[in-house]
Amino acid sequence: MLHSLNKALKRYLSIGTNRRFDRTTNQQLFVSNLFSFLGYIVTLILAVSSYVREDFVLAIVLVIASFVFLFCHHIHRFAMFGDTIKISTRIVFVAVTSLLIYLVYYGGNANTGPLWIYILPPIAFFFSGLKKGLITLGIFVVILSLMFFYPDNALLSTSYSLEFKTRIFYSFLTVAFLFGFYEYARQQSFEDIRKLSEKFEKQAMHDPLTGLSNRRGMRHFLEHEYNRSRRANTPLSLLLVDIDKFKKINDEYLHDGGDHVLEELAKLFIETIRSQDKVARWGGEEFLFLLPDTSANDAYVLAEKLREAVMNYDIKFAGKKISVTISTGLNEIEPGVNIDQAINSADHHLYEAKSKGRNQTQPCINSSEKP
Ligand code: GH3
Ligand code: MG
Ligand code: MG
Repeated sequence: MLHSLNKALKRYLSIGTNRRFDRTTNQQLFVSNLFSFLGYIVTLILAVSSYVREDFVLAIVLVIASFVFLFCHHIHRFAMFGDTIKISTRIVFVAVTSLLIYLVYYGGNANTGPLWIYILPPIAFFFSGLKKGLITLGIFVVILSLMFFYPDNALLSTSYSLEFKTRIFYSFLTVAFLFGFYEYARQQSFEDIRKLSEKFEKQAMHDPLTGLSNRRGMRHFLEHEYNRSRRANTPLSLLLVDIDKFKKINDEYLHDGGDHVLEELAKLFIETIRSQDKVARWGGEEFLFLLPDTSANDAYVLAEKLREAVMNYDIKFAGKKISVTISTGLNEIEPGVNIDQAINSADHHLYEAKSKGRNQTQPCINSSEKP
């Protein structure tokens, strides 16, 4: 019984939420539903109580407010777009504020109406955020001070003692300030978490040594460029580059020397490729190049340019010059071939380059055949 009641309430409060919306929008819809639901119930109970006390004016105002809350709740059923959500949450907010101003003006039951104004700061900050919430509360404070302190109670239909008005006014300012501070701290933490998650996301996609994309990061570009080239029917080529006899470099210059070579080559690769090309650290001393709008002929020209640049590159470590060469396997992705098959082909050609003596690109394409 309790379980099904809980389920029904959850379903009721989730009206208008949608998996297509982001988390914040759905959360706002949920809380807006909660406010309009509570507003609807509370104002209805107060309306009945005012009716019993024969305070008919207040009873009518409360019934109207109750209907506004009910109406807002049902707007969410049709909240298909962000704008509709904004409109309905704004109506809830304006309805609450108007009701509070009316309660201050009228006094309510035994002049206790102004006690409800404390619900405004959390609602204002939740729906409008820090900046707009502060502006809204500022306007409300101006209205409140005018109503409370205008000479001869001219803007009130009831009369409060000066002590009551000043205490309410200052305690409201204190509550508003505390909620504002809380909202500020919440926003700061949210921003910190967002930056942290961005940093982790970046770390997960990049190789810490060279700063290049790692396998995971490169997957994203591979899929994007693969789909684009299939759609636009443009050539797409891959180069799989491996440093020759890298184990010997490690043996001779130790691991730090090897790391230095990897860092230097990464810089050289970035300087040599075009802006639309991508290079990633694919494995230990293996780099994968993704070359959009590039045929096998053009990819071969670039591979040879890279090979010569590496051969002539002056890498210095601990006062010594390290000589490095690379071998490259090339593959232009043919129609009907998927990414993994294309990488395997490039790997196969890399193996061929190694077995044919290293410091070369395979397949060897005669660049004079270039169209
Ligand atoms: P080949 O010409 O056939 O490619 O020979 P190789 O020595 O380059 O190839 P092999 O695969 O036998 O050795 C690769 C070496 O790369 C072994 C590994 O210790 C080293 N290595 C892998 N990742 C790193 C790294 O991040 N830093 C350093 N310094 N060395 C690495
Ligand atoms: Mg290797
Ligand atoms: Mg190697």
